[in-house]
Amino acid sequence: MSTDQFNLSNKTAVVTGGGRGIGRAIAEGLAIAGADVVPTARTREDVEAAASAVRSHGSKSLEITTDVTIQDEVESLIEETAAELGGVDVVVNNAGINPDPALGPPESIQSDGLEVTLDVNLKGAFRCAQAAAKELHETDGGNVINVASVGGLVGLPRQHPYVASKHGLVGMTKSMSLDWAPDVRVNALVPGYVRTDLTDDLREDDDLRRSILDRTPLDRFADPEEIAGPAVFLASDAASYVTGSSLVVDGGWTAR
Ligand code: NDP
Repeated sequence: MSTDQFNLSNKTAVVTGGGRGIGRAIAEGLAIAGADVVPTARTREDVEAAASAVRSHGSKSLEITTDVTIQDEVESLIEETAAELGGVDVVVNNAGINPDPALGPPESIQSDGLEVTLDVNLKGAFRCAQAAAKELHETDGGNVINVASVGGLVGLPRQHPYVASKHGLVGMTKSMSLDWAPDVRVNALVPGYVRTDLTDDLREDDDLRRSILDRTPLDRFADPEEIAGPAVFLASDAASYVTGSSLVVDGGWTAR
């Protein structure tokens, strides 16, 4: 064991949804560990700010906006990253949504709620991994991290499309790890409740917040930075025998 195992120098990572929240924290975490990082999202200002934060840690970055539901944009992201930074070693599929039309009991969910959620959370991850397949296989130690959710392990009321997308992502992680071993490791990172824009509504609703915290032994929401360390671990040689797994980072929420 050596601390060098966590060193990501000479690695290039792409982080989808890297403009804010968990993705931005993971992008910075990977940069702090030495990787060059391309944090991408749809909002240009967020992408510029995230790329600038990556550079502030001494790493190279690119400012590329991407919508993970658009195949051409995903392919351009990977091509441009490989051309400018010499390859793609790590893909973090973090872009995710849980939009209003997808919230509620099954009979109330609007028709596009399921489509839209699956298109970003599940198909978006598939598109990015598929587009990067050649790069990931050509490099020594290719790595995919799919950011799932505790909603990928258990049911959550009123969030059927989200839960379906995240269960799908955990399943896809396992299948992809079988097809791509031994060259490329593929794992799911499974956060519990994290303080980001995605959970603003939950945290503002006193009853909901209390019910979540009552189930959380650590009795608080995570900060996004607390998800970054486990992501760095999965991307690093310290996790060289870890593939097809789900790393749960939930303050104990699923332990009950
Ligand atoms: P945020 O809403 O804070 O950030 C989501 C990011 O995804 C943004 O950068 C957003 O940027 C980007 N994004 C959304 N849609 C697309 C798209 N079509 N193409 C590209 N990028 C997109 O969410 P979190 O940081 O909280 O969530 C990140 C991931 O972690 C998600 O997959 C989420 O499901 C998961 N997660 C979050 C938990 C939490 O408690 N917060 C718990 C468990 C899992 P833009 O809109 O500019 O494109």
